Amino acid sequence: MAQGEFELIRRYFGTPELNFAHDDVLLGPGDDAAIVSLPVGFQMVMSIDTLNESIHFPTQADPFLLAQRCLLVNLSDLAAMGAQPVAFTLAISLPAPDAHWLAAFSHGLAVVAQAHHCPLIGGDTTRGPLSITIQVHGKVPAGQALLRSGAAVGDAIYVTGDLGDAAAALWWILGDARLNDAALDASARQVLQQAFYQPDARIDAGIALRGLASAALDISDGLASDLQHVLDTSAFKRFGSTQGLGALIKSEDIPLSDTFQRCVPLREQLALALSGGDDYELCVCVPPAQEAAARSAMQALGLRFTRIGHIDDGVGIRLQTSLGEQHPLSLKGYNHFSESL
Ligand code: ADP
Ligand code: MG
Repeated sequence: MAQGEFELIRRYFGTPELNFAHDDVLLGPGDDAAIVSLPVGFQMVMSIDTLNESIHFPTQADPFLLAQRCLLVNLSDLAAMGAQPVAFTLAISLPAPDAHWLAAFSHGLAVVAQAHHCPLIGGDTTRGPLSITIQVHGKVPAGQALLRSGAAVGDAIYVTGDLGDAAAALWWILGDARLNDAALDASARQVLQQAFYQPDARIDAGIALRGLASAALDISDGLASDLQHVLDTSAFKRFGSTQGLGALIKSEDIPLSDTFQRCVPLREQLALALSGGDDYELCVCVPPAQEAAARSAMQALGLRFTRIGHIDDGVGIRLQTSLGEQHPLSLKGYNHFSESL
């Protein structure tokens, strides 16, 4: 690697704001690899995500916000496992080093890294089209991780926060004519921008739900698609086949923010909230005996936690309207390869 690139790494990714001390990190950046040592009785939980310009975020995205989104969507995967963040690594491909861009990106990363006490411990820096890969490392008491595969008939289905705001934000960012621009005042813009670029990683919720939830995942592709993953993996574990578990969702119980309801036309709301994606809220299955405890744990965190339906032995996900009619949920979540399948 050229000398200038070592300087770039040191200046933007070797800062005390990013490489701060953590009890479990024995060695951060600067050597050939980092060293993490977990306390006895803990397991390491790892997740990696790549965000490519113009596919996962718009070209010319604000680097300060973009950095936050990159780290937060990774932390959201740890949240969905009930894991506590420990540290992250960053592989970044840059077209040309731009000092302003890098300074803002580094600062954005640091804001989130510090908020979640998750230092940057190493990475790789290359030339190429803008692409950002982050791997987060977390810890969980042995055997207590929240998996997708534990849902059973009768479990209640909950979601944290509101659904659809990030999808509405993408309409706004892309200039989609369906968005009601007249309702886009400064506070609505703030809500949408935050939903897309600064989704809350529900770390505290995931940790509090250990031992209470039977299954959990974070909603990245849209509830319709992601809940199906819970049904498939849970059925497979229980019955050896992806058949056997379904879900009944009540359309009127889907939590929608005021901003969403003002900006998105009524006839589009349900489809967008269920299949728009990028929510990074948790979808959680809770056995009836644990519902009261789970609700009060989320209340203690001040987090909206809404029961939207339950697991049954029906086929697929069905949506029950306010009139009591049931419709199969045919809306698919966003799938990168859907056109080629
Ligand atoms: P090597 O050639 O041994 O892989 P590199 O030149 O890629 O080493 O990196 C040198 C050091 O800088 C390593 O400790 C690496 O973890 C760190 N590093 C490189 N890029 C980044 C980055 N984007 N963020 C954090 N640390 C980085
Ligand atoms: Mg390297």
